[in-house]
Amino acid sequence: MLKLFNKTMKEIEGIIIYQVAQKEKDAMLSFLTEEGLLSIYARGVKDNKSKNAYAINVGCLSSLEINEGRLGGKSLKSATLISYLGKNLNSLLDYACFNYALELARKADEALEDKASAYKALHTFLTIEKNDDSIAHLLAYISQILIILGERMKIDGCVFCNNKNEIITYSLDDGGLVCQNHFDKGRMEKESKDQINLLRFLFMAKQAEATRINLSLPNYLHLLNQYQIFLKDNLGIDVKSFTLFKPFFSNL
Ligand SMILES: [Zn+2]
Repeated sequence: MLKLFNKTMKEIEGIIIYQVAQKEKDAMLSFLTEEGLLSIYARGVKDNKSKNAYAINVGCLSSLEINEGRLGGKSLKSATLISYLGKNLNSLLDYACFNYALELARKADEALEDKASAYKALHTFLTIEKNDDSIAHLLAYISQILIILGERMKIDGCVFCNNKNEIITYSLDDGGLVCQNHFDKGRMEKESKDQINLLRFLFMAKQAEATRINLSLPNYLHLLNQYQIFLKDNLGIDVKSFTLFKPFFSNL
């Protein structure tokens, strides 16, 4: 009976974004919630007979009952599936976007202060009807994460002088649009109008409206590549799932 006094129990809703097998039938779950990312030891869930097995797969939106030990270790008591958010993956591109988003959510968590907004952004990405535009939605999701990380790009004028005309490119490193006068060809590339408009749109529109811009796959991949480099070099977030996009880059 003494054990009861050393533990607290709570029930919380969230998304399973990662799991690693432990021992023979156990798993360590990464569970994203409004409170941030929780690591939960789930005993016996890899057993076919486990009643929790169906609710702890990656992509499950589930409600978990969690025991919390005195030292903060968390273990799963029971899991109830609300819905499976990976069910509408119809293409390799959908699959790549899904994996990228989950890995980013996991790796960015520590640096994110506003956990509730970060959770909402992932939930929006996973639940929205994507049709053929999962990559537009992924870019909108990454943009939201950048905003929450304090990396909102300036899109209403040149980041150096606020000039609203003669915008010829943008620089993620510098934090926004760049005008003719401040273009530094030593470390910047010129971008097309479509590319500039895409960045503008992503930092202006609501996340759910991402597909309204309706650009082509090469435009989206171009920005995804720039985001990938920015996340890695400037924020130390290395999303390995980026390699899933390789086939699409080689088809350009
Ligand atoms: Zn300028």
